[in-house]
Amino acid sequence: MCGIVAYIGKKEAFPIVMKGLQRLEYRGYDSAGVAILNGDLNVYKKKGKVKDLLQFAKDKKVNGSLGMGHTRWATHGKPNDVNAHPQQSGDGRLALIHNGIIENYASIKEALIKIGHTFESETDTEVLVHLIDEVQRQDNLPIEEAVRVALTKVIGAYAIVVIDKKDPNKIVAARKGSPLVIGLGEDEFFMASDATPLIEYTQKVVYLNDEEIAVVNRSGDLQIKTIDNKIQSPFIEELNLKLERFEKGDFDSFMLKEIYEQPKTIADCMRGRMSAAEGWVKVGGIEASYERIINARRFIIAACGTSWHAGLIAEYLFEELARISVEVEYASELRYRNPIIDENDVIIALSQSGETADTLAALELAKNKKALIYGVVNVVGSSIARMTDSGSYIHAGPEIGVASTKAFTGQVTLLTLMAIHLGYAKGTIPRSYYLQLLDELENIPKKVEKILEKNSHIKYIAQEIKDATNALYLGRGYNFPVALEGALKLKEISYIHAEGYPAAEMKHGPIALIDENMPVIVIATNKSAYEKIASNVQEVKARKGKIIAIVNEGDQEIRKIADYCIEIPYTDEPLTPLLSVIPLQLLSYHIAIMRDCNVDQPRNLAKSVTVE
Ligand code: GLU
Repeated sequence: MCGIVAYIGKKEAFPIVMKGLQRLEYRGYDSAGVAILNGDLNVYKKKGKVKDLLQFAKDKKVNGSLGMGHTRWATHGKPNDVNAHPQQSGDGRLALIHNGIIENYASIKEALIKIGHTFESETDTEVLVHLIDEVQRQDNLPIEEAVRVALTKVIGAYAIVVIDKKDPNKIVAARKGSPLVIGLGEDEFFMASDATPLIEYTQKVVYLNDEEIAVVNRSGDLQIKTIDNKIQSPFIEELNLKLERFEKGDFDSFMLKEIYEQPKTIADCMRGRMSAAEGWVKVGGIEASYERIINARRFIIAACGTSWHAGLIAEYLFEELARISVEVEYASELRYRNPIIDENDVIIALSQSGETADTLAALELAKNKKALIYGVVNVVGSSIARMTDSGSYIHAGPEIGVASTKAFTGQVTLLTLMAIHLGYAKGTIPRSYYLQLLDELENIPKKVEKILEKNSHIKYIAQEIKDATNALYLGRGYNFPVALEGALKLKEISYIHAEGYPAAEMKHGPIALIDENMPVIVIATNKSAYEKIASNVQEVKARKGKIIAIVNEGDQEIRKIADYCIEIPYTDEPLTPLLSVIPLQLLSYHIAIMRDCNVDQPRNLAKSVTVE
């Protein structure tokens, strides 16, 4: 969601900024803009993609060694050229790019209009740059001080970068609630929403903290202050990221690449955390806060989207294997209720990016209520990773496709390890079953590989259902959240309306939708409820629904009823989601490609949801 890139140094800024914006495209956006300072402050903005902006700027003046660019994900005002960022002060002296929402923009705007300001765009962002300009002019302040004072008047979330035509040797940035990272090169600085645009230039970074303002200048100085004017010393971190991991390689899309990476990413998530041969499992984050976690009265899982589905699977895992009571909450709801949370609770936040605004706010609330905060995130150094008491990285590597695939299986792998670890520690699973689960877990990557080999069969099935307008996904037990996830994947990238349901719930409503045009994707691998699912499949068949069944290898009964079957290897039930989700990811992928959809950047969606 929204991308910010800025550069100051000796090189030409425009190519660096544009390449950076392209690297951030995966975050999702609807328009793009750039500002280059070189005596003049040249600003170019365009609705659409970064390539449209490049085309637009082709014959324009773009030289200069200080610049910034933005990809906007509209919150206030339509995606169009005028609303795109950078936004400027009335006299064109200041330019600002922003990720987030200024919640009190309406009252500030009203006050500014009263003293003569006029506005061109519908954005909250333009209000902020006018406010900074007003503060600056009133007291003739340097830009960093004007930014600081203006931000004391603002409610909301932001990462901003500001440049001042009259102060051409510096860039000012600030953050609260939205991410911003500063890259330190040789006599040059970079700024960005995440490290992706920086890593080809430097591995040295400073993550700006909430309510901090940074000033970088050409002489190589970086200064950080808090909004209440306290000087901070920058904490420089060394990244260890390789550029190839951010590129598609031989694949046509990041999503397909990421689906195919799963045997490796699942293995990477387990690496160093377990050994089936030696019979141990150890999740570092649990060890770090062992007493509070093992004695927790309850786990509350806070997440959004696909991560919320991983959380539902974790509910089954923790309750069955470790006998810990679990609640799974949409972070966006949890943050605004008045939930009963205290120091006996453990809040587990699931977020690929570690920047999800709602999840961060839910954590903040739980922290104030003294619960232990545990983060399960993918992006190293992200806001959630930094604010939690304890936590674990899933080590899936950069996930660029907007529709999450490998991060989901990474989260489920990690949560499975946690449940086995806690179950064994609490004595709620016998040693024989514990060893069996570890053994099975170690076999999962190979089994995922076997499913990936069925790609062309899955593509063939996709062809048969690509023209549907609706689809129903059914599953029971561990496969119920997988049904939800399958439906979400289809909606996200192919724009087909889909719903996931617990198979037995179908009778309480959705069965009314079933006719010969309705594909029903049934996940029927559960040993414990096989007969019951077989009956659900019969009920769909009786109403002429088109059945696509995910079954175990060697299935006899359901294959007789289903129109199409996708076989997956057998595994223990708690581990099934790691396998049963794979064909659903591929099915959605192929359907979306056949419908000519952009699978990596589906319309309206953002990768890292940094606004609430
Ligand atoms: N609220 C701002 C706007 O709508 C910024 C959105 C963003 O984060 O891209 O322009």
